Amino acid sequence: MADRYDPHALEPKWRARWDAGGLDRVHDDDERPPYYALTMFPYPSGELHTGHWYIIAPSDTAARFRRMQGHNVLFPIGFDAFGLPAENAAIERGVDPKEWTHGNIDRMRQQLRMMGASFDWEREIVTCDPDYYRWTQWWFLKLYERGLAYRAEAAANWCPGCQTVLANEQVLDGLCERSDDPVERRFLTQWFFRITDYAEELLDFDSLDWPEPVTTMQRNWIGRSEGATLRFPVDVEGVDEALSVFTTRPDTVYGATFMVLAPEHELVERITTGDQLATVEAYVAATSRVTEVERLSTEREKTGVFTGAYAINPFNGERIPIWIADYVLVTYGTGAIMAVPAHDERDFAFAGDHGLDVIPVFDHAEVDVSEPLEAAFVEGGAMVNSGAFDGTPADEAIPAVIGHAEAEGFGTGAITYRLRDWLISRQRYWGTPIPMIHCDTCGVVPVPESDLPVVLPDDVHFEPTGQSPLTQIEEWVNVDCPQCSATARRETDTLDTFMCSSWYQMRYVD
Ligand SMILES: [Zn+2]
Ligand SMILES: [Zn+2]
Repeated sequence: MADRYDPHALEPKWRARWDAGGLDRVHDDDERPPYYALTMFPYPSGELHTGHWYIIAPSDTAARFRRMQGHNVLFPIGFDAFGLPAENAAIERGVDPKEWTHGNIDRMRQQLRMMGASFDWEREIVTCDPDYYRWTQWWFLKLYERGLAYRAEAAANWCPGCQTVLANEQVLDGLCERSDDPVERRFLTQWFFRITDYAEELLDFDSLDWPEPVTTMQRNWIGRSEGATLRFPVDVEGVDEALSVFTTRPDTVYGATFMVLAPEHELVERITTGDQLATVEAYVAATSRVTEVERLSTEREKTGVFTGAYAINPFNGERIPIWIADYVLVTYGTGAIMAVPAHDERDFAFAGDHGLDVIPVFDHAEVDVSEPLEAAFVEGGAMVNSGAFDGTPADEAIPAVIGHAEAEGFGTGAITYRLRDWLISRQRYWGTPIPMIHCDTCGVVPVPESDLPVVLPDDVHFEPTGQSPLTQIEEWVNVDCPQCSATARRETDTLDTFMCSSWYQMRYVD
């Protein structure tokens, strides 16, 4: 026996023995209790690195532990192979993304085996293989059938470097998470998943044993706010409309001393008075040159201009000046807010800068609210300056005000979410083709299930141009309409790679 451990001799010997014996193979008809040990599957980015093993080693240990406890352990692995990382790397090196990806997979598979992980390689999946992505397409069709996949024109995050749209989650501090380019806003027709339908369900952690930081992340991501939608009639001749605002603090409505609209709000043009017109137009033009990230920055000075118009506070009949300011976004909520400077720091600063009234509507143990306030305070004791509500304690104030608004018909209790529907189409080559067809007569028609997969064509000039490279392949794009047989066109956008990895845990098991 050798007196030194020689991995080059020993490891291949035992690997061959394990493979021959099918040590890690899993069979459905096994009588031992089943156990599914799922680990993240890697991007085929090139070489394995410590980070991969940081994820895989604990999972491998857990899988082995369960086997030793007598379970029939399914411990599969695969490759999350579509998406921008592969495509961008392929463009840099001037090679085909498919070749590049499969080359990496071969190398990483060999490295994973060398490390001795106990994967069942017979169940390996690769998301860019047609026999995988036909089912990604099938999921898309199922969601479409149920009205959960839809097409809409929407302001999208556009990365000029990657020449594609990004999901909100792929934008970090205004920059593309892949290329670090500043992200722009563009209005484009895109495919979405209606994930907002599930906002409440996604907040139900009852049956889940998740660590607290994870549930907190999920809560922040969904961003549920409870409050009310209130309607303030616009006091402008010929405009028979009300400004609808969502507020988490309907109990401060008597302290609303100005309204703020997003400069792009459709009412701005119709309510601005003649003497304010030039100022408002200049401000709107200036806003269009500012990015959304800058607009939301807390450090930036809060600018704004008066429209000359007023709204009526339905609770007390007071006239409230309507301003526009770029820190209000037309894409968020109703694009309009009621401002209560006495009880909101941002509104307080804005009121100070522009000489607007500050009316406290709660008293406070340490603040004399009959004197001008030195700062806003958020929580108070009981309502003041609030008509019939004076004296109502803070903890009863919100339901009392909502009840009144509902009884009088100028508002309702409401819940909003920060969560937006998931934008899942990409104008890039290296992804699952979206299985839809555009027909001049029939409109958008799903590809029949029997025609799946819609195979991604090879030999495409895939450098990004802002349009999907698939638009250039006429023989692929032109297709008979499944409904009327006229010549129609395939959808040329591909799916966000996160769609492929949303369901891989199910693909392993058959
Ligand atoms: Zn980018
Ligand atoms: Zn048709």
